[in-house]
Amino acid sequence: MDYQAFFKTSLDSLRDSGDYRVFANLERHNGSFPNATARAEDTKEVTIWCSNDYLGMGQHPDVLAAMHAAIDNSGAGAGGTRNISGTTFYHVQLEHELADLHAKEAALLFTSGYVSNWAALSTLAGRIPDCLVLSDALNHASMIEGIRHSKAERQIWKHNDLADLEAKLTAQPLERPKLIAFESVYSMDGDIAPIAAICDLADKYNAMTYLDEVHAVGLYGPRGGGISEQEGLMQRVTVIEGTLGKAFGVVGGYIAASAELCDFVRSFASGFIFTTALPPAVVAGAAASVRYLKQSQIERQIHKERVAEVRARFDELGIPHTANAGHIIPVIVGDAVKCKYICDILLKDYGIYIQPINYPTVPRGTERLRITPSPVHSAADVDALVTALSDLWTQCELARKPMAAQ
Ligand SMILES: *Cc1c(COP(=O)(O)O)cnc(C)c1O
Repeated sequence: MDYQAFFKTSLDSLRDSGDYRVFANLERHNGSFPNATARAEDTKEVTIWCSNDYLGMGQHPDVLAAMHAAIDNSGAGAGGTRNISGTTFYHVQLEHELADLHAKEAALLFTSGYVSNWAALSTLAGRIPDCLVLSDALNHASMIEGIRHSKAERQIWKHNDLADLEAKLTAQPLERPKLIAFESVYSMDGDIAPIAAICDLADKYNAMTYLDEVHAVGLYGPRGGGISEQEGLMQRVTVIEGTLGKAFGVVGGYIAASAELCDFVRSFASGFIFTTALPPAVVAGAAASVRYLKQSQIERQIHKERVAEVRARFDELGIPHTANAGHIIPVIVGDAVKCKYICDILLKDYGIYIQPINYPTVPRGTERLRITPSPVHSAADVDALVTALSDLWTQCELARKPMAAQ
């Protein structure tokens, strides 16, 4: 086989479909996020409108001070897996901080949110005898991969559809172990799961619940514990999974659950056991971020206001955006090539960086801009965004009729 030719043909067909991913090469400047320098043939100053550093915690003084102090104190790396010399005082402290955040007995750190979902779900579903996983149709790739790796039976229920979930639960013997896996805020549509009703079904049918709060931790609830905290449901959910890389602004993932469950995953999950622990500085920074957002409301408050403002301005100008109760603003373009074109022009002519969201991240025909306002976007940033998008939307509506339907 001509391996190189195979790679090239595959990439060419990806390019033809419009789904080929081009990464923006960005240089963030501490203190001036969401502004950054985009490095291409010509260097350009841009405003980022698609970051998951939702609150700007990636440049928060408390976070940076904790990271500097930890480097000075402990050096660069952890030096081993958690089992073999990689568990530090910082790791233990952060796990306590996270257990407290979610009012759970324990928490367990992973190198990313992806790894936490993959490792926890594959271990739980793989080791609980005859476990049936009931997975929401829009679950994140990391959950899907974890469930697949478990080799447990999996049934997919229609997104946020309680009747479909109940039909699948009813069809099973009450005593069969079941795990309902879902998210609180869905990343690409920004909509929110009916957590209480799902917990009711879990109780009724003797199921465990596994809730990915990656897009909610730090952002919702009086202490940033997520939608389950906001709705007073943390005690009812069996496993809460989160990331330290989005609203908390650093990197890392975790689960929070009972002491026994966390100890079980700690003891059996390959993706936890056989990898070097996060560096102490990263862990210290994440802990500072979690601690800070437990007591500060102002970031969450301004974040909400900024999201409402952008939506109101879009409404004024007739720019279509998908309604949801969360902070993510999806603007559906519905065509991979056009979606990429709009983003290219935004970057080139307006200095606005929004990454096009294409297949397989979202279904074909629902290609979109995913806009994430933050407290660090200024009124001038908002003005520039809505003006640019309004210009472009008009231009593309005239030129490409199918878009007018959106
Ligand atoms: C980003 C994401 C993850 C993975 O978290 P990382 O910390 O980025 O690895 C998991 N679940 C959902 C829903 C996500 O959007």
